[in-house]
Amino acid sequence: MTLPSSAPVSQPSASSAARALHNALFTLDSHIDIPWPDQGDAFVDTETRRVDLPKMQQGGMSAGCFVAYIGQGPVTEKGHADAQTQCLAMLDAINRMQGTQNGVTARVCSTVADMLAAQAAGVLAVVPAVENGYAMGDDPALLAQFRAKGARYVTLTHNGHNALADAAVHRPSLGDKPERHGGLSAVGRDAIAHMNRLGMLVDVSHSAKSTMLQAVQVSAVPVVASHSCVRTLCDHPRNLDDEQLDALKESGGVIQITAMPAFLKPREGDGPRTANVADFVDHIDYVVKRIGPEYVGISSDFDGGGAIEGWQNATQGVNVTEELLRRGYDRSEIAAFWGGNFMRLLKKAEEVAEQSAITA
Ligand SMILES: [Zn+2]
Repeated sequence: MTLPSSAPVSQPSASSAARALHNALFTLDSHIDIPWPDQGDAFVDTETRRVDLPKMQQGGMSAGCFVAYIGQGPVTEKGHADAQTQCLAMLDAINRMQGTQNGVTARVCSTVADMLAAQAAGVLAVVPAVENGYAMGDDPALLAQFRAKGARYVTLTHNGHNALADAAVHRPSLGDKPERHGGLSAVGRDAIAHMNRLGMLVDVSHSAKSTMLQAVQVSAVPVVASHSCVRTLCDHPRNLDDEQLDALKESGGVIQITAMPAFLKPREGDGPRTANVADFVDHIDYVVKRIGPEYVGISSDFDGGGAIEGWQNATQGVNVTEELLRRGYDRSEIAAFWGGNFMRLLKKAEEVAEQSAITA
């Protein structure tokens, strides 16, 4: 297997204790991008991507949330139709990861039970998701189509406001003003109700603060920030501030710290922005100290811009485990960070969906 040219070729120097723990845990990365379907499905032994199935297996990863990412375009009928088509094609591409190729087996999992069964069977769990509610345009009924293809969360917005909600980063080139709806629109509130009924998590990464705080109130299931960091440590609009972290704790939600240098560390001078695994774990530490170890998890945003020194691709997650051990976290806390907390939300979403099916 050849690693991407951007990645160091040397093996990570994790201790045997870290490696043994890492390999024993259920390790889930909650946000990974995929190639555009028209560029082929490149999940098997790729040279250019940070995540493929062989790298996940080599790196002792159990599961990954792979996202159908839809870039924000015009909020028009045509824009919405194109976004829906793209989203369905990307979800189909994610579903094609199912099966065995070159000795690596992956299973597309739509429940927590499926994910744990995959781990028990020694196969990789693939969890589909949708990044950008733009894909449903202004018709929440479309969410059922995404769920039917396995999607377990929907990121309400990307960069730029859509029909559902205001984004943290607005797009003047699309005609955005700083605010469009003042948080969630009526369509966005309806979409969250649909997601609750379908067992899909509401992802508030990329959302404006107003949107995030309203989503916490509106959703019957605690929300997740699938790939965000701490604003107090790095003042980026994509990050969550203390008020947001406190709201997350109160509702039982989870922030999945992400390996994006721009969100981890303020830029110093004009040099290239870099961050390392210690910077990454600083954000986990901050959330633990502020609201507790039950509310934080781990994501890479690999192949969507994420990568830091020491965690350049899916083979190197053990270095995060090593740093967590070094900081004094115990096995149960590290297990919670690496997937336990996120799966608690998925399970809650499944329970709420089952309950609403019974009462419907
Ligand atoms: Zn993103």
